[in-house]
Amino acid sequence: MQFSFTEHQTQLFTRFAELGRGVAANAERCDANREFDYHSWRRICDAGIWRLPVPVNLGGLGGSWADCVVAMEGVASTACDLGFLITMLASVGALRTILAEGTPEQKARWLEPMMRGAIGLTAMTEQSGGSDLARMRLAAEAEGDVWRLCGRKVHITNAPIASLAMVAGRIPSLGEKRDITLFFLDLPAEGLSIGDLEDNLGMRTSPTADLIFDNVRVDETNIIGTAGAGLKLLYNTISFERALYGVIASGLIDSMANVALERTQKRYAFQRPLADFQFVQTRITDMKIWALVTRLLTYSAIDKVQSGADDASITCSAAKFLAGEHLLSASEHLVQLHGHLGFMRNSLSRQLRDAVGMRIAGGTSDIQRVNIFNQLSRLQKRHAEDLAIAAE
Ligand SMILES: Cc1cc2nc3c(=O)[nH]c(=O)nc-3n(C[C@H](O)[C@H](O)[C@H](O)COP(=O)(O)OP(=O)(O)OC[C@H]3O[C@@H](n4cnc5c(N)ncnc54)[C@H](O)[C@@H]3O)c2cc1C
Repeated sequence: MQFSFTEHQTQLFTRFAELGRGVAANAERCDANREFDYHSWRRICDAGIWRLPVPVNLGGLGGSWADCVVAMEGVASTACDLGFLITMLASVGALRTILAEGTPEQKARWLEPMMRGAIGLTAMTEQSGGSDLARMRLAAEAEGDVWRLCGRKVHITNAPIASLAMVAGRIPSLGEKRDITLFFLDLPAEGLSIGDLEDNLGMRTSPTADLIFDNVRVDETNIIGTAGAGLKLLYNTISFERALYGVIASGLIDSMANVALERTQKRYAFQRPLADFQFVQTRITDMKIWALVTRLLTYSAIDKVQSGADDASITCSAAKFLAGEHLLSASEHLVQLHGHLGFMRNSLSRQLRDAVGMRIAGGTSDIQRVNIFNQLSRLQKRHAEDLAIAAE
């Protein structure tokens, strides 16, 4: 396991951190207007971020997912815009799934648009509940040799701006518990409409909306992996995405710590800079510790996912948990350390509003605890069985 960057990765980090500054420059306007920053997206895609993990023979740069993660961390270190970063993250799932599970035809059809910057989405949540994925109802009914998708996905990141959709649904004819399937669709699609842009508390630079399926036609070529294998594929994608929340959070927290340090060195109270007071220092050191801990756990989680370690899922959930909790605490410190200035409508308070969403999107903090506990119990049971076999 190695956590230090190679020289190439250091260059990637620096290049993408520079592009992240462009995101920061537009963040206030985009937040106020509930707009997505297409200009920065274009620049980041043109710099080749989505080509990094794709092999050269498929049109990519032949790097690794670690390179792509480093580039994302670069953007996160300067962007000051969780919404924009979540739109990036929501595109990763589709790319990673097609790369790992797509047939040669599916790769030929969808990889190139994604590498060029087609925005993707992953649609799982339904009105029946986001935490309990097994309750999803969106279904594909057979009609000759095609299927018709009917149902509704809710609160989907990128729904108003995406051109590719990865959608989890059921094929009821396969029988319960074996029917969840992953469909990949080009947008717009006949029969598929997009709900109203949601008026969210934070992350307003990342649009969310419902997807309404009214007899949307799909066939074999739209299914990723095999019919009924969706849950397994989704958990792999979700695990990786959970770890990515950590990269985003650590980049954002690090930049918040720097802003707080600068402010408290310049601002005086009782004839001394605020930064001289230990209670103030404690808040800033907390922020730095949270950035470090989240980052290290995240890279460890990504390493475990890549190597297929037994505890990969636990570590990814732990990274997502820390990302959500630490980002929210750090943004609260940021606001607090700026006094009334932090309480006004500006980038400081926006980052606090944004951070509330990170504890919900991608599985809530409580659900990460549930995952960790369940996985831990499963591992313990398996360990006990292995010991019993060894003792026979
Ligand atoms: C900014 C944002 C972007 C999003 N983007 C997407 C997207 O792109 N695609 C997508 O599919 N979804 C997306 N979502 C939806 C998100 O995944 C769900 O909101 C989330 O999984 C929670 O589901 P829910 O809202 O239905 O809450 P519920 O499932 O109703 O949960 C409500 C509360 O109950 C708690 N709870 C539920 N079960 C348990 C339990 N067993 N133990 C303890 N506590 C429990 C939860 O932690 C939560 O606090 C997004 C959400 C947000 C905020």
